[in-house]
Parts: sequence; C-alpha cells; structure tokens
Amino acid sequence: MRIKLIVSSLALMTALSACGKEGAEPKGAADQGAEMAGDSVDLFAGIAVADASNDQGDTLLSAYDGPYGGVPHFDEMDIAGVKPALEAGMEKNLAEIDAIANSETAPTFANTILPLEKAGDELGRVFTYWGIWSSNMSSPEFREIQQEMAPKLSEFFSKITQNEKLFARVKAIYEGDEYKSLRSDQQRVVWLTYDQFASNGATLEGEAKERYAEINQRLAELHTTFANNVLADEEGYVTYISGEQLGGLPESFVKAAGAAASERERDGEYAITNTRSSMDPFLTYSNERNLRETVWRTYYSRGDNGDDKDNNAIIAEILQLRDERVGLLGHDNYAEWRLQNRMAKEPQQALDLMEAVWPAALARVEEEVAEMQAIVDADGGEFKIAPWDYRYYMEKVRQAKYDLNSDEVKQYLQLGKLRQAMFFVAGELFNYDFAPVPEGSVPVWHEDVGVWEVTDKTTGEHVGLWYLDPFARAGKRSGAWMTGYRSHDTLDGIKKTPLVSNNSNFIKGAPGEPVLISWDDAETYFHEFGHALHGLSSNVDYPTLNGGVRDYTEFQSQLLERWLSTDKVIDNYLVHFETGEPIPDELVAKIKAASTFNQGFSTTEYLASALVDMRYHTVDPEGIDPDAFERATLAELGMPDEIVMRHRSPHFGHIFSGEGYSAGYYGYMWADVLTSDAAEAFAEAPGGFYDKDVAKSLVDNLFAIRNAVDPADAYRAFRGRDAKIDALMRDRGFPVPGGGADDTTVE
Ligand SMILES: [Zn+2]
Repeated sequence: MRIKLIVSSLALMTALSACGKEGAEPKGAADQGAEMAGDSVDLFAGIAVADASNDQGDTLLSAYDGPYGGVPHFDEMDIAGVKPALEAGMEKNLAEIDAIANSETAPTFANTILPLEKAGDELGRVFTYWGIWSSNMSSPEFREIQQEMAPKLSEFFSKITQNEKLFARVKAIYEGDEYKSLRSDQQRVVWLTYDQFASNGATLEGEAKERYAEINQRLAELHTTFANNVLADEEGYVTYISGEQLGGLPESFVKAAGAAASERERDGEYAITNTRSSMDPFLTYSNERNLRETVWRTYYSRGDNGDDKDNNAIIAEILQLRDERVGLLGHDNYAEWRLQNRMAKEPQQALDLMEAVWPAALARVEEEVAEMQAIVDADGGEFKIAPWDYRYYMEKVRQAKYDLNSDEVKQYLQLGKLRQAMFFVAGELFNYDFAPVPEGSVPVWHEDVGVWEVTDKTTGEHVGLWYLDPFARAGKRSGAWMTGYRSHDTLDGIKKTPLVSNNSNFIKGAPGEPVLISWDDAETYFHEFGHALHGLSSNVDYPTLNGGVRDYTEFQSQLLERWLSTDKVIDNYLVHFETGEPIPDELVAKIKAASTFNQGFSTTEYLASALVDMRYHTVDPEGIDPDAFERATLAELGMPDEIVMRHRSPHFGHIFSGEGYSAGYYGYMWADVLTSDAAEAFAEAPGGFYDKDVAKSLVDNLFAIRNAVDPADAYRAFRGRDAKIDALMRDRGFPVPGGGADDTTVE
C-alpha cells in the first residue's frame, strides 16, 4: 500500500532528515545528509491514465510518458501547480480508498489488498516533483507551501489509516482462511498492510481515535518547524574571516569560502557557512584556535540560541505527544512501538548492541586524547584539548602516525573516474551495464543532471534509469542522498522498471578540470550508489514490498562502500589526475592502516547521539527539559569532555524533523554490524570481493528481495547464520568481546 510509503516519506520531504554512514569513518568534508532510501522509492508507481481535466497542476499529476516505460516531466515543473496537484492527488486517492472500503463483497486479497497496492499513482507522481523542489531546488516560496501543506497531508493520511471499514476488510483478510493459502510474499503484503493500520491507531475508537489524529497533525507541524528552524540557523549564521585568518586551510577550501563570501556580497572576505561541509574542514585545518571555537560553537548551537528559532520547547512537545500517542495504543514507550517491525524488534536489543560497543569507544577516546595532548604539550600549548581542537589535532596525529595527507589522496580521487569505478563494480556484482541516454531523450530539472540507462550485460534487457545530480548549488540541500521516481512491481502484469537518482554536493570544477574529492566523499558516493543498486535490482511484485526496514536499509549501501578499496578499483580507477598513474601501493597501505584511525571520536560522537535518542524515547517525557536531559544523560554515560554528540538535540533532524530515525538512529550501527559481517563473507570467499557465487547470493538474498522476506531470515539465507558483532569490532580496531561468544549475535 503506497500510503505507508507516502507518510513515511512526508517527514523526509518536509524536513531535512538524514542518511549516510554515520559514525562509520572519520568524517571529512562529507555532510551525511538525508536520503529517502526505502521510504520514498516506493511512492512512485508509474503507468497510469492521466485525468483529462485542465486544472492547474496537470503536469504534476499526469502519467510519465516517453521512453523507458515513461519518465517524469522534470522539464515542465511549475511551482504554481503544486498545491492544486497535491490536493487533486489526495482527493483521487481517497476516492480510490473509499471504493475499496465500501465494497459490498466479502474481502479478499484480490478485491482489497491488490487495489490498495494500485491506489495512489497520481499522488505518488506529485511527490516525485515535490521531492525535487524540496531537496534539489528549494526556495522560500516552496518552503511556505511545505509548511502550509504538512498538516493537510497528515490529515489525509489519518483519513486512510483511520478508515474503519477499510481496516475491517484488511483485518478480515489477515485473520481469515484465505491468508493461509497465499504465497509468502503476498502474506507479507497483507501483514505489512495490517500492521500499518494497527500501529497507526486503526484499532482505536471514539475519543482516543480523534485524539490520535489530532496528535499526528500537531506533530507534522512541529517536525516541519523543527527542520525549518535548523535550516534558518544554518543559513542565518555565517562566520566571516579575513585574508590574514586563513592559516592552515587548504587552497580548495579557501577558494570555496571566498566564493561563498562573494555570493553574500562580502567580496574580499571568506565565509565559513554554518553547515557540516564547511565546519568540518575548517575545524580540521584552521590554525586559528579562537576561530575554531567560534565556528564550533556556532555549529553546535543550531536550534539552541534562545531566540525564535530555538527548538528546545518544540522537542519537549514532540516527545510528550509521541508518548501520549503510543500510550493510546497500549505501549509503554515510543521506542517499544517504533521497533516492533524493525529488524531489532525491541529497544533492549538495540541498547545491548550499543552498550557492547560504547566502553571500547570510550577507551579509545582516552588514547586519542592522550596522543593529541602530547602534541599540544610538545608545542608548548598551555591548554587541554577542547572539542574544537579534536579534528585539528587528530589530523596532526594522522599525518605523524600514518603520514597520510588528505590532499595528497584527493589527487587520485577524480569524480568522473569514481563513477566509472561504480559502474565497474555494478557490472561485476549485478551484471549491469550503464550507458548515457541519448542527449535530450530524458527530461531533467537542471543542466548538471545526467541520466544513464541500466541494462543486463548478458541479455541486454532494460533494467532501469539512473539519474545523477552531482553538484552543489543554491536551493539544493546539503549532504548526499538517493531517491526514486518509480519502483519495480508487476501489478497489472506490467513489469515496471525503476527510476532512481543519486544526489550530492560536490563543488563544480573549472571547465575541463577534474573534480577531486576526499576519501570520505568517495565512500559516500559509493554508499549512495548502493542505495541506487538496491532500488534498481528490486524484483518484487507489490509496491509495499519495496518498502524499507529502517535498521536494515543502510546495510546494503554501507556494504557497497567496501568496494572502493578493492584492488581492481584501486588499480584501474584511482589514478592521478595529472599523470594518470595509479595510486601508489604505499599510499593505499596508509589509507587502509588509517581506516581504524579516529574510531574513538567517530564511534563516540555517533553512539552518544544514538543512545540519547533511545533514552528520549524510552523515558516518561512529562515535563522534560531537553537541555537538562541531554546533559544529564551524557554525564551518566560518561561522555568525554572533548567530544560533543554528532547531532545535539536542538538540531537532531534525524529524530525530530520527522519520525524516520526517531528511536532508530541506532540503525546505522545495526547496519554496520551486518556490513562488517557480510564483508567478511566476501573476504573469505575464493574470489574475494568479486566472487561470483557470493555476489549472486548477495543480489538474490539481500538486494533484489527488498522487504519481501523478513530481514533476519534474508540475512541467514545469505550468511548461513545470524550476524555477529565481532567483525565490526575488528573493523574499528576494538577488542572483540568474549572472543566471539553467542551473546554478541545480532538477529
Ligand atoms: Zn544511506
């Protein structure tokens, strides 16, 4: 049922949520921003008949047409059409739902579940365009529309999940005799549909039901306000510095900062904008300790400035409403409700994993701080390492210990070559071929966007389209993400082929010059491509089965990062931008040696956020003061003074800009456990990372199947057992607890 997918995407579309390989690696310039994997690739069922009306918004509602089974009209988007199209799409979807709900015939899979799967085509298409405006080309005008429409969309969703007649039909099928005779994937569609209703208040009656809908509507507003406040603080606070204050900063950063100042009519100065991609390299390289403190404070105060953009009161209200809402459903706390259909199944499982890793991370931080303090002391610096010193001295330790200069590595990381490397990997693992579509044959929303046709290398069969929007520009949100415009299904006997996109914020080079990126950014590039392959390889029959399981959807993308450092990629694609020489073995050895470097910092900043998230959603939030709660929780955990949460509460968009990652931020590490364990399956295979048998098992059991099988079962089919935490500990250079006892198994 698409409504599940639509609503879970709302939070992401009306807000800036997040993706990425949180805490997996030392972070460079990459801003691990949102992507909508799993949640939004599913909105976009394609072929349908357009209404013949002449209302505004026609283009946004109408069927995709043209080549490749139809493609979106990205060249004809008119923002004036958004509201009417959205309203018409919702109305149409509600009419479809009513027709199903009001049927007089006894409910069956064919007359209820199947039409539900088909419903919502038009609205799904409107959301494709909505997503482009929201993420790729935002504007104040669009943000106003978002703010206005958020509660209406929430109300729309409630109308469906609280449709008693519809729920009664779904329930009858779920509990009836026919269910037992259905195929297992069909049973899963029924269960996921039933669960979507049950966990969203369908079992409620009377006042409780009304209150439930009220809460949802208010939450939608609060999530949007939260996100907009963070955005306002990111845009509203810029630190300007002069030419005398550039000490230590790489040339590329200086250039970008100069351009950013000029854009703001401050020619001759340099702008340190309030985003991760600006803050992170500044803190890594700037010699100016006072400025580092200023930039650090500005960044980690987003949403926490005591002004009209302050998010603390909003957090308190969000937590109280979420708690009240799950209370109506009979749950003790939000996390318990949230995790019931996740791979982890219950909060304690997630906490067990985090608490197993936390002490090792803290112990590592102590070592890292000692190493850094030694440098400070040797330089005669009379201060203790502060949070704004961490990245700076870590870089010094990195250079001393591994002699690894990030700028030197960059010379071998050309954006164009990396794309070829990803195509090579997809060819080896998935048997895919990528070819650019004929110029002008597929509409795009900006001239920088490229489109490739994906085909099967052996049969030549069309698989789907891959869009790439690589460069930063005004109105495009930060970070990197993947999204989909149509997902695979076989409804009506038509095989719909996926349309997926990768989006990044690389800085465009001068004409003819290659774009050079950091190792972290290269990993992120592969990461997002992993999401794209997950979408492209889908072979499920029903839209619902394309849906993601939050603590599982990052696994496939994180795993794909591992191919960046395979020999075949290194030898053929990581070549110097001037000489064409492959990256020297010695430098690769250093990169590999450095991969466990800084794990104290990155694991701790991540886990602190994940643990605080889980605490917020397991305590009674009555009268909660987020500021005090955050401090008390961190103190209790023994958070080191030298590190701050990767996302402090007032700008923790993952969990407060929507519900995509709320009580779910642990999911990155959960996926990391699977990633490390699955990577060892390749490492142990005769053909290593290019072993054909393991690759086939990977594609069949863990990619193409999407959510047609319970993720825990899917993983067992691939690995022959549950994942163990040991490989993750080895990857991070932490001691393996208990020598690999059973209690470190992740189901
Ligand atoms: Zn991701």
